[in-house]
Amino acid sequence: MNYLSTRNKDLRMSAAQAIAKGLAPDGGLMTPAVLPRLPSTAMETMREMSYQQRVIYIMNSFLEGFSGSELTTYASEAYGGGKFSHPDVAPVHKLDDNTYCLELWHGPTCAFKDMALQILPHLLSASLEKNDEKKTVCILVATSGDTGKAALEGFRNVDKTKILVFYPKDGVSDIQELQMVTQEGGNVGVCSVVGNFDDAQTGVKKMFADEALAAELAERGYFLSSANSINWGRVLPQIVYYASAYCDLLKSGAIPPGQQINVCVPTGNFGNILAAYYAKTMGVPINRLICASNQNNVLTDFIHTGSYDRNRTFYNTISPSMDILISSNLERMIFELSGRDDKLVREYMSQLAEYGSYRVDSSIRTKLKREFSAGYCDDTQTRAMIAKMWKDQNYLIDPHTAVAFHVLEQYREETGDDTVAVAVSTASPFKFCSSVLTALGVEKHWAGVEILDQLSSHTGVPVPPSLARLKNKRRRFNGVVEKSAMMDCVLDMLK
Ligand SMILES: *Cc1c(COP(=O)(O)O)cnc(C)c1O
Repeated sequence: MNYLSTRNKDLRMSAAQAIAKGLAPDGGLMTPAVLPRLPSTAMETMREMSYQQRVIYIMNSFLEGFSGSELTTYASEAYGGGKFSHPDVAPVHKLDDNTYCLELWHGPTCAFKDMALQILPHLLSASLEKNDEKKTVCILVATSGDTGKAALEGFRNVDKTKILVFYPKDGVSDIQELQMVTQEGGNVGVCSVVGNFDDAQTGVKKMFADEALAAELAERGYFLSSANSINWGRVLPQIVYYASAYCDLLKSGAIPPGQQINVCVPTGNFGNILAAYYAKTMGVPINRLICASNQNNVLTDFIHTGSYDRNRTFYNTISPSMDILISSNLERMIFELSGRDDKLVREYMSQLAEYGSYRVDSSIRTKLKREFSAGYCDDTQTRAMIAKMWKDQNYLIDPHTAVAFHVLEQYREETGDDTVAVAVSTASPFKFCSSVLTALGVEKHWAGVEILDQLSSHTGVPVPPSLARLKNKRRRFNGVVEKSAMMDCVLDMLK
């Protein structure tokens, strides 16, 4: 199957090229030329499969040039062998007869980024081989928390790859920092940057654009690449868990074959909910896609009005992984809803770059409303939902997940639609101990990693094993650099 750019359908690549490049040379996002449709028996077929088998079943039709046995190896290395602390990998937790929670945080870093970043490194290193690339790839990441650790863990000791992560010195939580600076592996590097996330991000972008640096690194046998969520290799693995959740509902008798469900997704860059849309298009019986945002509600407004406008106040919230004003993956959605009109996508994206806003035409607005509902909540409402879930259901959730449950509740009140719904849970509550404890009414918090034990003893919920292990981990990385010295870190690592 071929992949094409959302900004130019004549710009085509193989799957291996799309994954190796990440972004199209024209700035567009590489997207499958044809979206495969599942056979009508697919859900029945996948019902009895393990998660790994479901991965192979779904991903196979997108990855021409990758053999079944290659995919089998990657699926078992990514999701097997105890990497995930739950045997079902992405289990579905029942709350009541029509409300379920898809837990995507049982991976090594306790956030949903693991679902894609555990398998992407295998896809990428195989792609390099298929493209006959002789150089070693160095992945540069600027992170505000979750992505950096998930990428480090995914790329750790993967052949022909190196990874270097930059995080803002004072912009990540204690637990998140500890997760990164204790990272093991022979091919990894971690460095903090004086400044905020934007400083780190700008520094990384500059290096990608630096031709002299590229030439120097090529001489040394390296080239730079990124692992951010616009890479097709990150979207594809996320389609699997929507099909998987549906199969699990079938298997448990929660729904009869063919019955449609709603999904509610806490959204930032639009990657996760885009995967749900693709799953639906392929034939997973999904009805409404409910897009949940925090106070940075640019997507809520877009879905309601058809106008996307990033010219607004940026809020730092207690669901920081959704503090985003430019949702990059929305470009793929507009491409699909416009009937794959690459010229129109190009026009909207250039308006976004120039004015920070654009308005889609009425046909796209109609389709948007047909597929999506949207809502948002503020921090007070997020904390209230954490407390309510704990009190009523004895179920402990993180702030991002709470945003999804709040918006689902709001949707049901407004529409009266009580279709079986799956809310997506994107992080373990133990990644955000402080916000969760505050929501539960605990004011004094224990220092450093001890806060993990505090949340555990307050609730009786065990600390996830990978976070519990942080206590005995040795700090490996102490580097702090000024923004202007980030390049020295790269040159140092790639000697
Ligand atoms: C990245 C992230 C999100 C947002 O996911 P998108 O694919 O960017 O929409 C939500 N919750 C958590 C915990 C995350 O790490």
